[in-house]
Order: sequence, then structure tokens, then C-alpha cells
Amino acid sequence: MIYADNAATTKMSKTAVDAMMSVITENYGNPSSLYSIGQKAKEILEEARATVADVIGAKPQEILFTSGGSEADNQAILSAAALGRKNGKMHIVSTAFEHHAVLHTLEKLKKEGFEITLLDVHEDGIVRPEELEKALREDTCLVTVMFANNEIGTVQPIREIGEICRKHKVLFHTDAVQAVGHLPIDVEADRIDLLSASAHKFHGPKGVGFLYARKGVRLSNLIEGGAQENGKRAGTENVPGIVAMAAALAEAKENMARNAEILTEKRDRLIQGLGAIPHSALNGDAKRRLPGNVNFCFEGIEGESLLLLLDDKGIEASSGSACTSGSLDPSHVLLAIGRVHDVAHGSLRLSIGEDLRDEDVDYIIRSVSEVVGYLRSFSPIWRDLESGKKPHLL
Ligand SMILES: *Cc1c(COP(=O)(O)O)cnc(C)c1O
Repeated sequence: MIYADNAATTKMSKTAVDAMMSVITENYGNPSSLYSIGQKAKEILEEARATVADVIGAKPQEILFTSGGSEADNQAILSAAALGRKNGKMHIVSTAFEHHAVLHTLEKLKKEGFEITLLDVHEDGIVRPEELEKALREDTCLVTVMFANNEIGTVQPIREIGEICRKHKVLFHTDAVQAVGHLPIDVEADRIDLLSASAHKFHGPKGVGFLYARKGVRLSNLIEGGAQENGKRAGTENVPGIVAMAAALAEAKENMARNAEILTEKRDRLIQGLGAIPHSALNGDAKRRLPGNVNFCFEGIEGESLLLLLDDKGIEASSGSACTSGSLDPSHVLLAIGRVHDVAHGSLRLSIGEDLRDEDVDYIIRSVSEVVGYLRSFSPIWRDLESGKKPHLL
């Protein structure tokens, strides 16, 4: 089995599993309890906070543990919106290809009277900072732009965006779920005010993540109750998950440069091999993308059929986002970069991991070529394209 869906989730690393086990079996106290096992839990919780903060250049007090990326996105955006409303600023700038945790939160705010500007991400899947600057208004309270896209992997000019936001005194949030643990991030240098991350995208456990909020940025609660997390997120902390997340992140940071190099080489070989399939196209810029992301459209086929046949061959991949699979709508990300519906339906995302072997790369290229050819051999759409009844778009 070749697992090539690391953008959907990753396997926990041994380091993370071991860290989690030690908490479950030994340090199982409640961090809010005053006796020793509780205080021990509190101690390792705060160690984890310091580790996480250090990886992104933040201070421990600026890290809030959450149930994952979605919660962090919701809390960041709703907090900035609440501050905006208080100051009579009800305009938000974002992009058309954000994760649904961001887009659906923005839709909710729109119903509450906020105005939302979604920036074009162009054919290459990259936001243009100058267009972002033009979109800013007197009443803009927040810019939220993802660090790297979860479907096509394109990495955004975050530092330039951060500088523009700082210059105009607008809060800047970035959904960095795909970037944390994979790309270097420095919230100070990148001028980031709010950042979301999720452990299960960097070999940590599911159901845990964090929100970075720069000192002075007032957060609103999504969950009311106890005084945990500085009173900003009630509920007994998920200590096993948090400690495992910190262990996974420290490990990811340690291996980041080497992993990126290994992945980039394999990624580029996959891009070259799959690009040789006739009437195919790479989605997103070829270089400014995550080291492990490959995303293609193949004309004349359905992505879902491709995935099922690849699964038969032992390759586990995705058509884009795990959230849209099962629905008939094409990916909003592929539509945002200008792919028409028919073409967007024939997509394949491979998000590879460090354990992918050289021979796996060859096997994937061979298998995808075979399956695409096979599906086209009885596709009515492909027949129309080949007979010239319809023009090829790729
Ligand atoms: C996975 C993902 C999320 C959601 O994170 P969860 O921890 O699964 O809630 C948000 N944004 C992006 C870009 C993602 O890839």
C-alpha cells in the first residue's frame, strides 16, 4: 500500500505515539488539580506550549491549544470580527480558495452584516500582494490568507502580505495548517497576528491543534466554562494530544530541511512523469508549492473513478479535498484557479510522505498513466474530444 494522502492526514510518528503513551499511562492528572500528579500534568502541558511556541517564533503565552485547525480558524476569524464590529470595521479580505473552515466562517459573518472581499488567486494559485493592498479599506478589520493551499499546495507570499497588513494596521490571520511542520515559519518576521495549525497534518494526533494570537490581540471564546487556556478556551486540556503534538512538531522541525529536499525531488519526478500523460495539466505553480504536493487534471475522466482504480492498485490518493469528496461539486480550489467544471472533475492530488520510496514514484507514474488511458478508452466525453466534436481544453 502506498499512502499518498498526507494532506488529508498523516500517520503519527513513533515519537508522538511514545509521548502520548507516557501521558496516558503515567501523567494522567488534570492540569487544574493541585496535588502532584495534576501539577506534573500542568508542567508537561506548559513544556509543550513552550516547544510549540519556539517552532514558530512565538512566546508561550501566545499559544492557545484547540481541538484542531478548524476550531483555530473559527476562533481567529470570529475574534477579529468581534474586534472589528466594536470599532465599526466590518470588512474582511480573504481568498477564493481558502479551506472551508475559513470560507464557511466568513459566510456566517456575511449573514451578520460583514462585507467579504475574496481575492483572485490566478491561474498559478498565488495571491498577488498588490491586489491585496488595493482591496484594503478604512473599514477592513481582518485579512485572512492561507499559508499553503491544501489541494494544490501553492505557498503564498506570506511575509509580503504580513508587511502590507502591518503597514495598514489590519489584523492578519493565516491558516497555516498545511505549512506548520513543513515550511519555516516565523510569526515575528512574517508579521502574522493570528495563525492556525493542526497536529494531524504533521504526524501528530487528530483532534488537537493550536492558535497563535500575538500578544495584545484579544480573543473571543467559542467555548465557555472553566478558566483553562487563559480563560479563552474552556474544557480540560487534551494533555496526551497536546504533548504528542509538541513532540511531533519538534521532530518535524528537526528534520524539516532534509525532508523538504527529499520530498521536492520525488515531487518533481512525479510532476514530470504525470505531465507526460497527454491532455493533462499540473494545478498550481510548479515551484512555489509544498514539497510533497502534486495535483493534476486529466481531461476526459472522472477523478472519483481514477481514485477507486488506483486504490485497487494499492495507491491511496485524493481528488482534492477530503471535505468535498462524496459530493458532485467540483473543487472550489480548482474553479478558483480557472479550471472549467469538466476539467476540474478529472483531478488527482498526491500528497506524498517522507517514507515514499523511489520505486513507489515509478509505480505511481505507471499506474496513473494506465488507469487514465483505461478510463478514457470508454469515456463518451473523451470520444467527443478525440473526434473533434468538442475542443480539447488541456
Ligand atoms: C486539514 C485542514 C484544516 C482543518 O484542520 P482540522 O484539524 O482537521 O480541523 C484547516 N485548514 C487546512 C488548510 C487544512 O488542510
